[in-house]
Amino acid sequence: MKTMKDYEFWFVVGSQFLYGPEVLETVATRAAEMAAQLNASGRLPCKIVYKTTVKTPEEATETIKAANYDDACAGVITWCHTFSPSKMWLNGLKILQKPYCHLATQYNRSIPDTEIDMDFMNLNQAAHGDREHGFIAARLRTPRKVIAGYWQDADVQKRLGDWMRVAVGVAFSKSLKVMRFGDNMRNVAVTEGDKVGVQEVLGWQVNTWPVGRLVEHINAVTDAEVDALMAEYREKYDIATDNLASVRYQAKEEIAMKKMLDAEGCRAFTNTFEDLYGMEQLPGLASQRLMAAGYGYGGEGDWKVSAMTAVMKAMSEGQTGGTAFMEDYTYELAEGKEYSLGAHMLEVCPSVAAAKPRIEVHPLGIGGKADPARLVFEGRAGAAIVVSLVDMGGRLRLIVQDIECVKPIYAMPNLPVARVMWRAMPDLKTGVECWITAGGAHHTTLSYDVTAEQMRDFARILGIEFVHITKETTVEKLEQELFLNDLAWKLR
Ligand code: MN
Repeated sequence: MKTMKDYEFWFVVGSQFLYGPEVLETVATRAAEMAAQLNASGRLPCKIVYKTTVKTPEEATETIKAANYDDACAGVITWCHTFSPSKMWLNGLKILQKPYCHLATQYNRSIPDTEIDMDFMNLNQAAHGDREHGFIAARLRTPRKVIAGYWQDADVQKRLGDWMRVAVGVAFSKSLKVMRFGDNMRNVAVTEGDKVGVQEVLGWQVNTWPVGRLVEHINAVTDAEVDALMAEYREKYDIATDNLASVRYQAKEEIAMKKMLDAEGCRAFTNTFEDLYGMEQLPGLASQRLMAAGYGYGGEGDWKVSAMTAVMKAMSEGQTGGTAFMEDYTYELAEGKEYSLGAHMLEVCPSVAAAKPRIEVHPLGIGGKADPARLVFEGRAGAAIVVSLVDMGGRLRLIVQDIECVKPIYAMPNLPVARVMWRAMPDLKTGVECWITAGGAHHTTLSYDVTAEQMRDFARILGIEFVHITKETTVEKLEQELFLNDLAWKLR
């Protein structure tokens, strides 16, 4: 399994032979210098490699063919220091299979007032060259990210770094395998979907393994393995229960599920309380621990939210880690303090915890199994997003809502699960109306790290519908957008 640092991005600069060898040498030297300085900035999650200056159609095509087949290359970043006629790029861009960013920048920040002459203009004409380059991608409808601004500026580097994270998420998505223990919860609609269609578009390989096989693995876990994991639990969490047998059983489940996931190269999994045949407890602590380690999880067989959580965790590798499977549970509707309370039956990822989680054991009203151990905590305050991928029949819709998480306004001492409280944008009532109008699920991925802009980039690269509910959104505008989206997707 590759990590962020295993990927690189190719910096490909456009030019042509018109300007003579001296200009081309300067362009190449500067492009290498820019790549080196961008790498030294500390704002890019992956290395950027200056690859070549494209001067002919053959060079453009050969460079893109090589990028397509290089597994370490997660994306291509282009820029035109000089003018680069774009019919030269057409054949190459037609076959581009990697995420594509057009960095519309220039080598110099300022116009050198007294020194500027036509030689300077011919060497430094990105404003001119980048327009020609941008046209051909627009004409070809090639999905791409355009980032404009001075390449040494922190905000430009940050946006480039954020896009690189998305591109790595796309590479992760295309090789993601999801392990399902049991099917979806009976009769539930929104957790269903076309697995073949999703694999075609997003790359996810979603398959099932028998719960009985998992039970065999659970029963084969040794006391020594459990002892070692219990030591880690004691270090990381407050153990607020005397029922250590329950905690030890969760340790067995964690070890067994991890073994099966790793043996199959799966980075996400699902289970359902309706199919725990032969298991003593619904995995709670066990699923929470695996999520904290970067595995995606979805309850009630929800493989879409599981996979999306895994993708977003991969995108945000090395950041705060605050990305979790979440479920909208209940509302506070008192005027002036309208909030959503999110939680799950057990399985909220401790990566969003505001303080050290407690291990507690409580009965579970659903599922008819022994009392499961789980981590209980409050989510932290801060700006975040919730994300839902729904199957609209023939296409996927990615819905993102901006939210502001707060410290829960009640202590809720009898609530035996982890909880996060937030204010949805633009306000609770409009936000809920928009979310329901768009068909967003009750399950989401909540992230403090991944931004809505990144999810928009993800949707653009993979060619799925994107809906963003922001502080500006109204139900009327959203309905119109969804209506037009329906028409647009019928034409595709
Ligand atoms: Mn659920």
